[in-house]
Amino acid sequence: MSFNPENYNRIRLEFDQKRLRALKAAVDRKTQLEEKIPDIAEIDENLAETGSMIIDAVMNHPEDLEERLAAIQEKNTAYHKIRRATLVANGYPDDYLDVQYECPLCDDTGYVDGKMCSCLRKELILAGYESSGIGELLRTQSFDTFSLDYYSTSPKVFAAMNKVYRDVFDYSEAFHGTGSGNLAFFGGTGLGKTHLSSAVAKKVIESGYDVMYVTAIGMISDFEYRRFGSSDTPDISPTERYFDCDLLIIDDLGTEISNQFSVSTIYSVLNTRLNSKKPMILSTNLNTEEFRKRYWDRITSRVFGEFFIEQFIGVDIRAQKLRQTSSK
Ligand SMILES: [Zn+2]
Repeated sequence: MSFNPENYNRIRLEFDQKRLRALKAAVDRKTQLEEKIPDIAEIDENLAETGSMIIDAVMNHPEDLEERLAAIQEKNTAYHKIRRATLVANGYPDDYLDVQYECPLCDDTGYVDGKMCSCLRKELILAGYESSGIGELLRTQSFDTFSLDYYSTSPKVFAAMNKVYRDVFDYSEAFHGTGSGNLAFFGGTGLGKTHLSSAVAKKVIESGYDVMYVTAIGMISDFEYRRFGSSDTPDISPTERYFDCDLLIIDDLGTEISNQFSVSTIYSVLNTRLNSKKPMILSTNLNTEEFRKRYWDRITSRVFGEFFIEQFIGVDIRAQKLRQTSSK
């Protein structure tokens, strides 16, 4: 997938600074501790000595280099062991003098074996959401902030929505990219469909996956731009990501303009992703009958056949919140 180059350069610089800060903090801890605990200073001197021994072996003893290096390595390991024991004996954690990187996978370099680490991917995707304006949604609408209190209008509503919440939460927990399955959220406005979509997006992004969150209107205009934009217009909204991203979330299906182009675009995205088992979440205010009427049979049969349907019920949460505010 492609990332915004400005975001990439900025985040790479942040990673470099983060790494330098971790290295400097480790050096500072070492300097302080060597002053406080003379034993540590002595071990560190011995360790430094093994460094010069390696250079000496490489430069002056090619004849038995391997044995010498093995012996030095053994010494080195032994000193490290003593150093850890000394730390613990003085009340410090045994890794107190190690460099403490934020990401133990890549040591804050952003790469593992030449491949982008999930921590760097995650930052880039989050930065992409910030620039596309959905960052606010991800910050505020998570599983933690989803309240089932709004569904306590009746035991039936509560039980149904409790199950929806569990299903969606479990889906996000079990998400593993291709083959994770698809969800379709049906239900009127203000019943929490966007909130739960955003909660899944957040959780899946945090697991390092590339998630694309769009409204149906936004999606159609991206494809229209692609189709009708002049050839010398820079491609600011590449549509490849609709097919490639790990999870595509299409919000508010049914609010887009209904014509041949929009329906065939939706069909093409759904069909391609279903064929390659790339997960999707759809949400719509239409009821199942309206949905069947509006879209081609080819679309509805695949949605009802290959998406797990979550029916949202209850009383409009936005209206409930308004009532609470005005009665205060
Ligand atoms: Zn990493």
